Amino acid sequence: MRKSWYHIITEKLWPDYPSETTTQLLRLMVILVVMFIIASANLIIRLLTNPGAGFICDLGVVVTLLLAGICLLNGKKDCLIYLTFTLPLFIYAYYISDFSEHPPCIETVYNSVWWIFGGLLFIFYLAETNYILFFYFFTSIVTIVFQLTRDNHLLDSFSYYHPFTTHPLFILTAFFAAFFFLRTKYMIQLKKQSHQLLDTQQSINKVIQNSSFSVAQIRAERDEEDNVVNLWIEKVNNAFEASFKINLHEVQDQEAEYIFNLLFRHHFDVNKMILFDKKSTREFHAKNQDRWFKVHALKPEYNRFYLIFEDISETKKKIAELEANKKRYKVLLEAIPDIFFVIDKDGTYEDFVIKESDLLKIEDTNIIGSNIYSVGFPENMANKIYRCIKNSLKNNTIETIEYSLNTHNGTFLFEMRLAKLNSHSVISIARDITKRKTAEFNLEKALIKAEESDRLKSAFLANLSHEIRTPLNIITNFTRMLAEPDLEDNERMELSDAISQNGQQLLNMIDNTIHLSKIETGTVEVSMSPCKVNPIIRNIYNRYLPIIPDSKNIRLRMNQDIPNPAFEFTTDYRLLSEALIILVDNAIKYTIKGEVVVGYEMVKNEKINFFVTDTGIGIPEDEKENIFSRFYRVRNHINDSTSGSGLGLAIAQHYVELIGGTLEMESKENEGTKFHFVLPFKDGKGFMKIVS
Ligand code: ATP
Ligand code: MG
Repeated sequence: MRKSWYHIITEKLWPDYPSETTTQLLRLMVILVVMFIIASANLIIRLLTNPGAGFICDLGVVVTLLLAGICLLNGKKDCLIYLTFTLPLFIYAYYISDFSEHPPCIETVYNSVWWIFGGLLFIFYLAETNYILFFYFFTSIVTIVFQLTRDNHLLDSFSYYHPFTTHPLFILTAFFAAFFFLRTKYMIQLKKQSHQLLDTQQSINKVIQNSSFSVAQIRAERDEEDNVVNLWIEKVNNAFEASFKINLHEVQDQEAEYIFNLLFRHHFDVNKMILFDKKSTREFHAKNQDRWFKVHALKPEYNRFYLIFEDISETKKKIAELEANKKRYKVLLEAIPDIFFVIDKDGTYEDFVIKESDLLKIEDTNIIGSNIYSVGFPENMANKIYRCIKNSLKNNTIETIEYSLNTHNGTFLFEMRLAKLNSHSVISIARDITKRKTAEFNLEKALIKAEESDRLKSAFLANLSHEIRTPLNIITNFTRMLAEPDLEDNERMELSDAISQNGQQLLNMIDNTIHLSKIETGTVEVSMSPCKVNPIIRNIYNRYLPIIPDSKNIRLRMNQDIPNPAFEFTTDYRLLSEALIILVDNAIKYTIKGEVVVGYEMVKNEKINFFVTDTGIGIPEDEKENIFSRFYRVRNHINDSTSGSGLGLAIAQHYVELIGGTLEMESKENEGTKFHFVLPFKDGKGFMKIVS
């Protein structure tokens, strides 16, 4: 700690005096120095101008002040008081005696009074007993009386001095009385306060002495630099003696470090606690006693400390037990695959136990203290939970709610049960029912599907028998008719056409039935392999060109965007061909005249777009969404006269999806239809890059 100049001076001048005395002495020294300077200056001026007899007096003043200075330096306050008694001498020398030249006594009497006042203040400041005061007052009165008598003015009081109050003796007496009164009052007050202080100190000591906490009073010893060099135990209270089984006389005036090391075997560092620790409270475990203590350090005075030892062993033990219990329950709860929350009556989360999993990663800090309205539930769900909390608390019932929760791992379904835990909170047990619900849902879906396929199968069978019967009937009857000998050639041609067309339809139907059963049983295999595109188109072309009925005026065309025969990409050859066959079959079936085009085009060298267009009857706007449904057939004049299962498009759509595309359709009634699908162009070969 840095010392002020004030401390440095006082310590240098009066090293052995207490600080209150040195302060007083220093103030006096300052006054004396000022007076000495004035007196010396006065002496010098006198020497230079008019030495005379007054010079002796001035010199006397300087010498007296010097003496006072010496007394002060030696810290002799009494000596200063006695020197003040030389004042009447100087008054006599300056204003009364013939020793120096001076105006008549009656004119200088006030000067004398002022000198006496000065001295009086001095004495008031220094004197500790009233006896000195009265003695000084007595000498002052004598001096003034003497001065007044010298020129016979003592009794002029009522005639010479007007008004009478200005009589020097009266002023002196009045001022003395006033000062004395104030001083007495101040002294009484001081005494009272010091009594009070003493009382307070005594009661504090008493409180400390009888406190149930162990208290040690410690004194700091400081070196010249004001650094603490040692800590001494001044005293300890009864509780300290009892708690540590040590007597006051064993520790009193002993080094604190030594005693505390003796008591706590180096588990408590008193120096660190008092001198270096910023915290005024710390805890430590005295292993040798197997006790925990909380120590509070108080510093009521500069060099005095109190250490209060609070035995917290019991509390520590209880906390440890609670912690162990909590851990045990947590382990238990964690073993249960449910999430536990404790929620208070206002919906605020107080605690939770969650099984460590990737499902929900909730930080403790995030959940505890937050409210059901702020953790992400939709408002109606939060309201529902809130109502259930209220109900559970009011009626002591178990409430059940199901809810979904969006987490970073997806949406999960929970079943929450709320049960009253105590008067102000409920325990909520949330169980992840996602798997159960998904299973239920899948089961339901499977059931619906099973029912649907059952229904479909019945419909299909009913349909099939009808649809097979028609072409078969035609084929059987027409074949018989072909055998008629008197048939015209053109009639024979027509019959043969009809037989072949119905035969084709029959084949189609059988194919479709096989496809559908494979789709239904999930046995459609997708085998991706490099597949040359142009031959597929050509095969379809070659397959359909000869069977276009003569009655139709249709031109079948191919569109091969990349003519290179090596052009290929990876897909399922069979599924692609089947899908295209179904589409071409439809196109020819629903076109009377015009053209049917089957082909493909490249899309930015990344995709390949297959299409089948026709200039047929088209599909009415309101039927567009139905044609992909199984067994659905649009009511039109072609369908009225031809048989069909209504399965083709459903199968084609399924196949296209299996190889990574989506079957789409654009159609205008009576103008034509375009079916197309885009496939990813995987591992393409033999195509030309289009540089744009
Ligand atoms: P099948 O199962 O024997 O092919 P289908 O041809 O009637 O019977 P889909 O191929 O599924 O059945 O076609 C469904 C319906 O869509 C057809 O009945 C027809 O009305 C309509 N349709 C399909 N393709 C075309 C087309 N290119 N032009 C006009 N209508 C079409
Ligand atoms: Mg068809």
